[in-house]
Amino acid sequence: MARELLAWEEALAGGGVPDVQVSADRAESPAMAPTAAEASAEPRVGSAERRARLEVLTAEAAACTRCDLHTGRTKSVFARGNPDAELAFVGEGPGYHEDQQGLPFVGKAGQLLDKMIVAMGYGRDDVYVCNVVKCRPPDNRTPLPNETAACLPYLEQQLASIQPKVVVALGRTAAQGLGLIDETTRGWRGAWRTWNGIAVMSTYHPAFLLRSPEMKRPVWEDLQKVMARLGKAPPPKKR
Ligand code: SF4
Repeated sequence: MARELLAWEEALAGGGVPDVQVSADRAESPAMAPTAAEASAEPRVGSAERRARLEVLTAEAAACTRCDLHTGRTKSVFARGNPDAELAFVGEGPGYHEDQQGLPFVGKAGQLLDKMIVAMGYGRDDVYVCNVVKCRPPDNRTPLPNETAACLPYLEQQLASIQPKVVVALGRTAAQGLGLIDETTRGWRGAWRTWNGIAVMSTYHPAFLLRSPEMKRPVWEDLQKVMARLGKAPPPKKR
């Protein structure tokens, strides 16, 4: 594990990918059972229908006044990435750069998230990335419960349209926003939970990793569980 962690840290620093083995985890893990989304009787809509639904939601969010966060936004931040993705990441809310550009995870935390995605064996645009709230909270504060509740229908409809096999909740606020935990929950990260029929793994937010790089180890362990569940091997390590 120490060797894998070092490789991942090198990958995050230099853009390469770690040399890891996930096959053993897969063989032993109960996560090899079908995901809840896979087992769902709800048929997945076609790609064109999915994209059309998401376009409508994006336009609605851009004009939304359901909570006070609309008063300070430059642009609403709906999502980026692949609507057909098997893997989605859900963060907390937009920051300064996201608010300016109208795209999630484009600042330093976003750059780290992109390295995490590549280390997992995906391309940056292979996955779907969004937040619990679509408008930037002032001074990057944590979204208030009423703001999260007002915005939750967008996220519900997003994920219902995409039906990813796995969602990674980035940070405690995201996990709380999804209703998976509350403020008293201990051991909130690193365990599988189910949200509206979709398997969810909660882990630390990339912004937290920028401040606390020693926490890369547990995050990598969480991401390996996700890779095992999706049968995903990382790309070969760069030499
Ligand atoms: Fe609407 Fe969500 Fe923006 Fe609030 S944060 S104004 S609910 S889009």
